[in-house]
Amino acid sequence: MIRHMLPFLGLIILIASPISITAQQQTDQITLVESATETVFPSSLVFKVKVQSQTDITKIRLQYEVERMNYAPVISEAWPDFIPSPKVEARWSWDMRKAALPMGATIHYWWIIENQKGVNLITDKYTLQFQDTRYSWQNLTEGQISLFWYRGNQSFASELLAACSQALDRLYADTGARLERPVRIYIYASPQDLRAAMIFPREWTGGVAFPEFGIIAIGVPVNQLNWGKKAIAHELGHMVIHQVTFSPFGASLPVWLNEGLAMHAEGERDVSLDLLLRKAAAEGRLFSVRSLSSPFSARPEDAYLSYAQSQSLVEFLIQSYGKDKMLELLHLLKEGSSVDEALFSVYGFDQSVLDRLWKAYIMSKTGAAPGFKYEEQKTDHRTKIAAQPYGSLYYLGLPIGVR
Ligand SMILES: [Zn+2]
Repeated sequence: MIRHMLPFLGLIILIASPISITAQQQTDQITLVESATETVFPSSLVFKVKVQSQTDITKIRLQYEVERMNYAPVISEAWPDFIPSPKVEARWSWDMRKAALPMGATIHYWWIIENQKGVNLITDKYTLQFQDTRYSWQNLTEGQISLFWYRGNQSFASELLAACSQALDRLYADTGARLERPVRIYIYASPQDLRAAMIFPREWTGGVAFPEFGIIAIGVPVNQLNWGKKAIAHELGHMVIHQVTFSPFGASLPVWLNEGLAMHAEGERDVSLDLLLRKAAAEGRLFSVRSLSSPFSARPEDAYLSYAQSQSLVEFLIQSYGKDKMLELLHLLKEGSSVDEALFSVYGFDQSVLDRLWKAYIMSKTGAAPGFKYEEQKTDHRTKIAAQPYGSLYYLGLPIGVR
């Protein structure tokens, strides 16, 4: 008996429900008149909505999701203030001083509106990018890389983009690590322009990376193209390493490995850094590998030496043991191994033994021995460091967001 009743009841509901809902909708429905946004870069992003109904609109919620590397979707909610009424205009302003979004970040958002009768309206999902609207950006895209710039000609941008490809090829050839997600690179015309695009800029900011958003921003004056190519390659190196090691365990890379791989992505070795390395080796002042696993010193000469050693350490590992082991090391770190565990498992030694092996390698390679005349050789290269206006900012300043 019951088995026969159920289909019968179901049929009644199917016939009855369209009629009753339509009748109710005519009196209670909520109409979306307008949904819009306004970007006030870099300080705020304003969401606006206009809705109307036969009865008072009583609740308005904005829900949004920011595109970034996550293991679970994160939906946030905002409640704009308004006075209940049948016609409502509401707005909610995202104050970037409280939670800043980087330039180019992508946001998905939708509205949930409710009226006095308890009828809900959930709007479509809208997508927007938080663009730096103060400039007319041009765009060049190749593979996973999109480059945006507003000063300089097409060949300026092409050269920067080519430097990106070379850095990616070099990293892939030597470590097997490759970009897994798209990256957007914003080229500002100067470090000053870049700082003006940030809510809390630091004096020395010449470039900044937002690895979880896949966004890099660098101030590259048109006459500093060569510096710009190296700076981009370096930041892209960090981006690849971040993507390859991103994990719910929160992989912690030793700084020497992260910076060393980023320097490796730059390609050509820096002569002045090589000289610093030789001098320190000759004087027995090299840092221990273990001390280089923490953030580098703020003292310029120590920081330069730390970068030089990191680059050399990475080269030593790649040249002596091959690229497959480097990728294996990155994978173990991604899975949550400590640095010493991962090194031991892949190479059969920890950081202390690596320190001894690498120091023997560097002494033999540089020929550095007591008596090495650094003073005779340093003048030209010192001048070179000083003459690169952003060179020092670069090596010292770029670790924001990447360390
Ligand atoms: Zn770096």
